[in-house]
Amino acid sequence: MNRYITSTIRRVSNAWPAKPVISRLSAPIASFTFDDFPHTAWTNGAPILESFGVRGTYFVAHAFSPENLNKHPDTEVMPGVLYYELDDIVAAYAKGHEIGCHTFDHKRVSHQSNYELLGSVDRNAEFVKNVLGDVIMTSFAYPQGNVSISAKRLLSRKFSVCRGTRAGINTKLLELSQLRCFNLDTNFNKNSIDALIRETKACNGWIIFNTHDVINFPSPHGCTPELLHEVVAAVAASGIEILPIKHALGRAMFRPIAE
Ligand SMILES: [Zn+2]
Repeated sequence: MNRYITSTIRRVSNAWPAKPVISRLSAPIASFTFDDFPHTAWTNGAPILESFGVRGTYFVAHAFSPENLNKHPDTEVMPGVLYYELDDIVAAYAKGHEIGCHTFDHKRVSHQSNYELLGSVDRNAEFVKNVLGDVIMTSFAYPQGNVSISAKRLLSRKFSVCRGTRAGINTKLLELSQLRCFNLDTNFNKNSIDALIRETKACNGWIIFNTHDVINFPSPHGCTPELLHEVVAAVAASGIEILPIKHALGRAMFRPIAE
């Protein structure tokens, strides 16, 4: 397929509104998410959120489980990153963090048929059920932010919320098949935090920050504990409520009866 067609398909897939829902937010909200669940997202990331009395969402893929990485050392991983232990998932859930689905095999969804994709999310649900018991994951994050129209249609029926990696504040018409987020990675401009907070407050939006490993010398997709602390502190100080994705969705869908 030539480059023009590929980029057109990508553009149309990203723009396709598979699950637009009118926001009922009467106040701004924020969520912090961690894709792939690197070990340091738990050991360094969670204590930062918890020190502000808030919780995050950890997107788990079986591909990064100790069992799979032992069995398949050729699994595509971020070099130098240590991934979760099963106990990390148990501890995160016990502390009130949300566990979300990131597929079983962490493959790009546009490379999979609906049948394969459905099998992947079902197998991942089974994996998490074996670790946590009767827990149903209702939030989903696309591996590498890659989407297709058919995957968006399928997954937005399977999950309450799907999050992509395209930048933006979610406001007015929430696109629940591909929520936008800001990646806290090595390209993140920390001078923009105050402007992002102002914009979120001005539109009663839902701002989502996503990262991977949280360590002093992070991978290109991760961030330092210092940056995560700075962003969480700024959001908390602004008065924006911080909630895991599934609780934030509850806020966004229902207006209090008194209003
Ligand atoms: Zn991922």
